Amino acid sequence: MPQLGFGVWQVPDAEAADAVGAALEAGYRSIDTAAIYENEKGTGQALASSDIPRDELFVTTKLWNSEQGFDSTLRAFDASLERLGLEYVDLYLIHWPVPEQDRYAETWKALERILADGRARAIGVSNFHPSHLQRVIDESGTVPALNQIELHPRLQQPVPRAYHADQGIATEAWSPLGQGKDLLQDPVLTGIAEKHGRTVAQVVLRWHLQIGNVVIPKSVTPSRIRENIDVFGFELDAADMGAVEALNSDSRLGPDPDDMNWLG
Ligand code: NAD
Repeated sequence: MPQLGFGVWQVPDAEAADAVGAALEAGYRSIDTAAIYENEKGTGQALASSDIPRDELFVTTKLWNSEQGFDSTLRAFDASLERLGLEYVDLYLIHWPVPEQDRYAETWKALERILADGRARAIGVSNFHPSHLQRVIDESGTVPALNQIELHPRLQQPVPRAYHADQGIATEAWSPLGQGKDLLQDPVLTGIAEKHGRTVAQVVLRWHLQIGNVVIPKSVTPSRIRENIDVFGFELDAADMGAVEALNSDSRLGPDPDDMNWLG
């Protein structure tokens, strides 16, 4: 899986083909969508009209909360594949655990079936706390390949990251740029960016890569799309890494997964 990919949350379906097309042109090969984003069609159109071989692309989509359950997951997966126009996805994720509904362990069994059928090359989860992951592992005996969680300099998630490392689960960061909000004006980050002649967004993405995260920044602006993948030609030193680490305040932009029971 490429360590840096392109996220398409909040990109309208009609704009997704252009945004994903711009990302593919800029060199991205990994695209992160979800059924609830309602842009799997536009995403699929961009994939179909590019001349990049399927085996060089990495496509992730996610199962929405209201579709959890064994049979309903299989049906929802079929519908996602059809909208994407693909025969398989590279990674299929359970979007949220939805603890109140208490169906994620049963849902995981449907993902195992999809994996066994070769229609997803890998399966994982999103927004799972270590306790949710442990239950899936205990009940199924298989370990999710990856957990996609909110993660940025103000929410560094040290406990989940350590648990993932122990279990061999990849950590993927959503909202890696803090949704482009005031994080990108932070004076410490601005100082590091000036030192390296880079932008703050590039410094933040570089920090993610150096601590081992998979990242999926989003932008619909072609120049920013290019800027966000141009992060392989410089390195943060130990002092920079320490300064970013000190910015952690355990502050979430999104909901705590234990309280997120919205079915949409
Ligand atoms: P992000 O942290 O990637 O920030 C995106 C915003 O930052 C853009 O809309 C833009 O305003 C700004 N931005 C982007 N590049 C910039 C640059 N170079 N300079 C200045 N500003 C820039 O936020 P996100 O979209 O929330 O997260 C990325 C992806 O993560 C999503 O698109 C989606 O694929 C995924 N995601 C998943 C979940 C989940 O529950 N699994 C939740 C949220 C997001």
